[in-house]
Amino acid sequence: MKIAMVSEHANPLAALGEADAGGQNVHVAELSAALVRAGHEVTVHTRRDSTREPAEVRTPQGYRVVHVPAGPPCRVPKDELLPHMGEFGSRLRDHWAADRPDVAHAHFWMSGLATALAAGETGTPFAQTFHALGVVKKRHQGFHDTSPADRNRLERIIARQAGRVIATCSDEVFELSRLGVPRGRVSVVPCGVDLARFTPRGPIALRRARHRLVAVGRLVPRKGFDTAITALAQLPDTELVVVGGPERGRLAQDPEARRLRALADHLGVARRVRFAGQVSRENMPALLRSADVVVCTPWYEPFGIVPLEAMACGVPVVATAVGGLTDTVVEGITGLLVRPNQPKELVARLRRLLGDVALRHVYGAAGRDRAEVRYSWDRVAADTLRAYLQLVPERVETAEAR
Ligand code: UDP
Repeated sequence: MKIAMVSEHANPLAALGEADAGGQNVHVAELSAALVRAGHEVTVHTRRDSTREPAEVRTPQGYRVVHVPAGPPCRVPKDELLPHMGEFGSRLRDHWAADRPDVAHAHFWMSGLATALAAGETGTPFAQTFHALGVVKKRHQGFHDTSPADRNRLERIIARQAGRVIATCSDEVFELSRLGVPRGRVSVVPCGVDLARFTPRGPIALRRARHRLVAVGRLVPRKGFDTAITALAQLPDTELVVVGGPERGRLAQDPEARRLRALADHLGVARRVRFAGQVSRENMPALLRSADVVVCTPWYEPFGIVPLEAMACGVPVVATAVGGLTDTVVEGITGLLVRPNQPKELVARLRRLLGDVALRHVYGAAGRDRAEVRYSWDRVAADTLRAYLQLVPERVETAEAR
């Protein structure tokens, strides 16, 4: 099949860790690569956000990235991109009028808008993955939510226009039902993990204390790093490495890094909290392997690839029981679940795990097992393809014949 991925802000080639570059970038990159491995042709359309980018890049994995000129060729926060989606959609339409894909797959709601415009005019069927839903964000962030005011209404429209909505976890299926999306039009396909990169064996980053906790994510308040820092005050002999944000040299200017550092100072744990800044894909496994426990304590989480990466490295996970984390982390099997924003509860669960090396190994091994069985990108690609085939039934016969 000829597949067009649309990912307006999340470029699969971008460095990860800053405010607008995380799981969606990984998802688009890995899913595209896996679809190419399965014999399909994939083009990713993403907004051109620098003058240095060539119009088109052929990746070593075999998919193409087209940098779509829409809005200024510089970084623009994703919550300010909506005014440029009309232009993005027109460019897509021109592209697809000349060379129509069999199916398009939009990632995030704004890509859905641009895709709906181009798909309607070129007769291209499309699937939608929201990655995050405006209603959920609003519920948790309230006044701090900087999304455009129209987001929720537009998400409902996109969900109606997409031939299929691909949810990444069971919690999202409930949210979509509440938005009025018929269950029959929803496929559930999780994100995956690179099982060859994230492995239990391999180099291990050096540590300074007896126990180490690692927390990874974009440095935004909803990731709940403050809960982990607060818990650390009750966990002697333990250090916490916070991974994410800009490169280490620029951390001092990052408002969330400053807020977290001030909290660590206030609690008297600053010497035991290390802010690693942005860490490359290459160095991430060694850091995860150096942890006794990987801690993921967001207020909410649409999916959460980090716990999968930890599990694939054979490291137990303590996570908040929210969103996708309730699908990936199995309480008492691959890790432990806690309520969000409850540092005392987190302390109790961490004490139990840090005090029991055998239990950590059992959870870690079960985590690797679960990642292998359910979350390879090849499996995710095969399940995603099944959703695409529902949009182009005439292709089912060809696929079956193969
Ligand atoms: N990540 C990274 N370097 C960093 C911070 C994060 O490579 O410095 C990666 C992390 O390993 C994971 C992704 O960014 O693959 C974050 O995805 P997740 O789904 O956990 O969170 P999201 O960004 O979607 O909220």
